[in-house]
Amino acid sequence: MRSVSGFAYFGAVLLLAGSLQAQQPPPAGGGRPGGGPGRRGSPIQPGEACPPGTTEIRPRLCQGPEVAAPSILDYRPRSTLVVPAHPVPRAKYPAIDFHGHPRDLVTSPEGLARLAAAMDSLNLRLMVVAENVSGERLQRTMATLRASPQMKDRVRVFTGIDFRNVGPGWAEKAIAQLEADVAAGAVGVGEIGKGFGQAYRKADGSRLRLDDPELDPLWAACARLNLPVFIHTGDPQEFYRPMDYTNERWLEMALFPERRISPDQHPNFDELMAERDNLFRRNPKTTFVAAHMGWHANDLGRLAKLMTEMPNVHVEVGAVLYDIGRQPRAAHDFFVRFQDRILFGKDSFQPEEYPYYWRVFETRDDYFDYYRDYHAFWKLYGIDLPDAVLKKVYYQNALKLVRGLPQGGWPK
Ligand SMILES: [Zn+2]
Repeated sequence: MRSVSGFAYFGAVLLLAGSLQAQQPPPAGGGRPGGGPGRRGSPIQPGEACPPGTTEIRPRLCQGPEVAAPSILDYRPRSTLVVPAHPVPRAKYPAIDFHGHPRDLVTSPEGLARLAAAMDSLNLRLMVVAENVSGERLQRTMATLRASPQMKDRVRVFTGIDFRNVGPGWAEKAIAQLEADVAAGAVGVGEIGKGFGQAYRKADGSRLRLDDPELDPLWAACARLNLPVFIHTGDPQEFYRPMDYTNERWLEMALFPERRISPDQHPNFDELMAERDNLFRRNPKTTFVAAHMGWHANDLGRLAKLMTEMPNVHVEVGAVLYDIGRQPRAAHDFFVRFQDRILFGKDSFQPEEYPYYWRVFETRDDYFDYYRDYHAFWKLYGIDLPDAVLKKVYYQNALKLVRGLPQGGWPK
């Protein structure tokens, strides 16, 4: 089955959990065959939630189903909605993937040929390898690219920063490596991963904060060398919340336990975001591109405030399509308002997933499937971007930000 629909999410949560506040699963079987406490309807007080295993059938009256309820995995209703559908296998304009993870596809001529075929089928003209390729590895990758007449102008590479042991002398070394990598062909920095701010320790043993002043010379060097800094900070906010039945990412965390973050962890979501914003603020001459729309695609008001306050911040849309596509009107307005500072990027390289992005950006289709059920139980809607905005998001903004991208041959 392709999808669990938006209705399924709602239904399954109601059936399974019975209440938006329920923390515990209902008794085995979920429902109450043959009647039970829920069958005649149990009244609740205003503001109270229905008990687990029941749902509100009339105002303040809760009832459980007569047959066993399916689990969140097994409830897969078919939508009966009939509306026009406009799948978009190829982007309307040639696109740049600013958030590329092609991995070994760029390390051999055979890999490059496979990458070219996939990119052609999607109208993806250029891929930025955002895999922190530095030093000798960068030189090897550049040599492989330059030897490919077909791909030498279709892939560009970002370098990385080694954040281990920040302390006296660190910045000079990091800047020297950065300059060497630029000489070798790197055109930007990133993707700085989510370990930055969480995992790295300074030479003195303390946690390396995102806004640590010892890093400022490095950010200044990025500005001087005209290198945008592509940075991923933290995880979706729900990962930092208790894994209860009110959590939108319950299934994802159940499937991938390593994604759960203890609600007691520090820095937590807001602490990390505050450090990140401070990093952006204290380095106004450095251009930052926040991956995954800074994990604020679910709160575009917050993101708009950040971007208004800090003109050096741009955002990339990888892996947050489920949030863009569930608010077609708000997302449309946001993209129009910040059309000069939003970049297309995909993250995980799965060619069959790109057309979902094209469809959300280019059409006004209603209520269609997303590609990963566990991310989002809801359906997507097209946000119908005007052509001028599409061109900016697909390629013009990236070309402006990254001088080292091939600048010729793009549509006006
Ligand atoms: Zn990434």
